[in-house]
Amino acid sequence: MTTQRDPDYRLETRLVHEGQQRTPFGETCEALFITQGFIYESAESAERRFLNEEPGYSYSRYSNPTIDMFEQRMASLEGAEAARATASGMAAVTAAMVSQVQAGDHVVAARGLFGSCRWVVEDLLPRFGVGCTLVDGMDLDAWRKAVRPETKAFLLETPSNPSLQIIDIAAVAKISHEAGATLTVDNVFATPLYQRPLALGADCVVYSATKHIDGQGRCLGGVILGSTEFIENKVQQFLRMTGPSISPFNAWVLLKGLETLSLRVERQTANAGFLADALHNHPKLTNLTYPGRADHPQAELIRRQMSGGSTMIALDVKGGKEAAFRFMNALRLIRISNNLGDAKSLVTHPATTTHQRFAPELRAEMGISDGIVRLSVGLEHREDLLADLVNALERV
Ligand SMILES: *Cc1c(COP(=O)(O)O)cnc(C)c1O
Repeated sequence: MTTQRDPDYRLETRLVHEGQQRTPFGETCEALFITQGFIYESAESAERRFLNEEPGYSYSRYSNPTIDMFEQRMASLEGAEAARATASGMAAVTAAMVSQVQAGDHVVAARGLFGSCRWVVEDLLPRFGVGCTLVDGMDLDAWRKAVRPETKAFLLETPSNPSLQIIDIAAVAKISHEAGATLTVDNVFATPLYQRPLALGADCVVYSATKHIDGQGRCLGGVILGSTEFIENKVQQFLRMTGPSISPFNAWVLLKGLETLSLRVERQTANAGFLADALHNHPKLTNLTYPGRADHPQAELIRRQMSGGSTMIALDVKGGKEAAFRFMNALRLIRISNNLGDAKSLVTHPATTTHQRFAPELRAEMGISDGIVRLSVGLEHREDLLADLVNALERV
């Protein structure tokens, strides 16, 4: 097989070509290797592969050509030396965090995390003797104060789900390194197009590829990215031995998703910007948060850290839960779902779904009021989306 790799090509070109390995058949499309294992030419060859003295594949829990192609394309996109794909975004977050710590260590994480990520650091890690302190991610002093001698890893997500608050990645990376700890960034909301955490000083980036990378509602997937040293010494053994492996079929779907990632995300962002501008002073909303608008409370940091807005908008509907529910139920085109980043526009009421398990005070700390509706903007015509939103707001 031959591998295509040229770091000089621009992002859109690499999204389509990077990492492709062609078999002697010369197929146009990336080949899908649905196989659990691989045949060795001889007993000697099997021995050498197990000793890592001979290149090649042995078992799809360790590596697979289709999964390799996806990993190489992701690494190129992110500007990372290495990438490993996983079965879901949560498998990526869990593996990235668990593989960095052991009993007696301590983790500092931003409070405004995706619900399951928060469970991993707040509930799972402490069961194995790893302490965790949650901080207001926007408060740099809070990160500094949370550091202990045994602190090994920081975790944050920006823009945060669902309140779209922004954390200064470069500043937190500096604090983590002064503490001798690593920084892991969950980059799902920004996508690899709009934010490059490694270039800002982070040590590890994680994705739920389920979101914009697939972007068409088909399969789950995740990715962990970092330096070769980080991936090979910290993460690789954990993944190989515990097996949260992605199916080659899903890796293939995600590879095809990457080909259209920039087209989709740019159009979805343009639609989101249009809707945010059209609705920002709507009388039925107490607030509208959109990272692409100059009235975002952290617009200056966004300009420094991100190269684009977002496909996500947070709408705070006047009248709390009842009003938010009336609004959502009155939508006809935009559907209710907890997914995001999809070609189809979707709304979620975080307080009663993704963040239901948190007490109201904890939700308030994360900036999640009962009126907040998270809107993931899709690829429909923007005027159809606006008409649906305006019509539903009128019914509140
Ligand atoms: C969806 C999501 C995850 C989890 O990803 P899955 O693919 O559903 O396991 C983690 N972090 C963020 C920010 C997400 O949006």
